[in-house]
Amino acid sequence: MTAGTPSSRIDTSKPHPARVYDWLLGGKDNYPVDQEVAERLPAEARANAARNRAFMHRASAWLAGQGVDQFLDIGTGIPTAPNLHQVVQAVTPHARVVYADNDPIVLRHAEALLVSSPEGATDYIHADVRQPEAILERAAELLDFTRPVALSLIALMHFLPDEQDPYGITRTLVGALPAGSYLVLSHGTADQHPELRTETESAYRKGAIALRMRTRAEVEPFFEGLELVGPGLVTAPEWYREEPAPVYERSGFHVGVARVR
Ligand code: SAH
Repeated sequence: MTAGTPSSRIDTSKPHPARVYDWLLGGKDNYPVDQEVAERLPAEARANAARNRAFMHRASAWLAGQGVDQFLDIGTGIPTAPNLHQVVQAVTPHARVVYADNDPIVLRHAEALLVSSPEGATDYIHADVRQPEAILERAAELLDFTRPVALSLIALMHFLPDEQDPYGITRTLVGALPAGSYLVLSHGTADQHPELRTETESAYRKGAIALRMRTRAEVEPFFEGLELVGPGLVTAPEWYREEPAPVYERSGFHVGVARVR
């Protein structure tokens, strides 16, 4: 896959990350090629996907509670209720949410399912995160970049190998946000289950999907220059603000929410 305007044709001959993830969450918007990848993954991948999604819900609701009313969510995934706009508009009905993903199947569902509350607004951009400037330009049609925006990159950056500059892309996106904005990021890791690393990587590799799980130390630089809010850079099931985290569960995701100074 090369950077550029992504194709809008759904290719059912090759697995796609959005459809594999949909399968892991128990969705029906996937094809046999995607199921093949998903079924090769360790059984724990399903619980990990659900915990990652639950982190997205908690972090987005918390940000809306902080008064953030503009959201840019890149790597949206196939719409799965509640979607980010439903979570934040339940708190702030006038919130504006721009979604972006490069998968044509997400594009197909976006119009029908990413529908805003009457007071707020949603938009969808069919674009590749490796062209961050193009996303920022389009997002500015709905979002006011002179006021705080929450940028979410959730379960996205592990699909960018080092040579595609995931850190630089994140810096470009964050650089467009004014003080008081936030970065919400979650990232796949094998830190807590090193024995499943090979199985996980090879399942994706067989589907020709590059997966670059990163250690905690490798995830930290995504937050460079930002102020991590409590509880800091933790695993998905550990990220709780108002209530204590439930009993320890190991996790395949490092997550954090950080404020732009
Ligand atoms: N953020 C959602 C979905 C994560 S699945 C959640 O956490 O619940 C990862 C998503 O990233 C998929 O929808 C996939 O299509 C998208 N994606 C992968 N590579 C991308 C790229 N280069 N540009 C834009 N989106 C990408």
